[in-house]
Amino acid sequence: MQQEIRKAGIYKEISSLTNPIIKDIKGLTQRKNRQSSKRFLVEGLKLVASALDTDFRLDIFVFGKKVADHELVQKIAARTKAHGGMVLEVSQQVLSKITRRDNPQMVLGIFQQPYFDKSLIQAKERDLWVALEGVKDPGNLGTIIRTADAAGVKGLILVGETTDPFALETTRATMGSIFALPIIRFQEDAFTKFCQNWKGMLVGTHLEGAVDYRTLDYNKPTILFMGNEQSGLPDNLAQCCSDLVKIPQKGQADSLNLAIATGIMLFEIQRDILKF
Ligand code: SAM
Repeated sequence: MQQEIRKAGIYKEISSLTNPIIKDIKGLTQRKNRQSSKRFLVEGLKLVASALDTDFRLDIFVFGKKVADHELVQKIAARTKAHGGMVLEVSQQVLSKITRRDNPQMVLGIFQQPYFDKSLIQAKERDLWVALEGVKDPGNLGTIIRTADAAGVKGLILVGETTDPFALETTRATMGSIFALPIIRFQEDAFTKFCQNWKGMLVGTHLEGAVDYRTLDYNKPTILFMGNEQSGLPDNLAQCCSDLVKIPQKGQADSLNLAIATGIMLFEIQRDILKF
């Protein structure tokens, strides 16, 4: 089977730890390199395979010798070459060097970061979008992307300075949903301007919100707006919201985890849509 991968297209076997391609790939574990190259690195066969039927194209597909005969590895390698990408069969040491782990994943994918324009956000029927202000924790962001995908959200809006959605820890937490949702970024003042012309609801979540989230009628295009982990939605952004809601709490915790609160909100807003 390994012969088949080798037959056509760009195929290389690499075991040298100083190979410049390997250095470039390893560089993608750092945000500044992801930003300058507009590419990102994803670990694991399941995660890489979840991009197969999407518009994402693998620039480079890397796999360990041990899994060269795996059917899915063969399939991904063939697709990568068909799109003009590069296929690399590497040693365990090379995989360990890239991922900085003794027990690395056997498969890595290097993808182009997609660009989505804000014109994609349309106030159509019951479309639902999630906006996150200043989210800092990669695990939270990844979990929110996964949950938003499951809830049938149209896309994600990142406002202000946030953690990188294309970091390894984030893509891992998305479990593949990074390939399912468009992500659109705004500086804070640009988002404020955008909201002035938004024809749907902008539902902010706030610990001081006076309205129980279950009492609102979400039967309109909606942007759900979540605050950051430390200080919540700042006043200037809270003022832009058409509604400010709260999830009532009991007990001593002063707030919910951001990803948990987002999940509760999304599944309430989609309650009618998610009926089987
Ligand atoms: N100390 C922060 C504050 O005062 O807002 C706590 C922020 S909380 C950890 C992060 C975000 O989760 C909040 O900005 C809000 O969007 C959401 N959240 C958490 N608990 C909530 C609740 N009970 N009701 C509504 N939103 C909540």
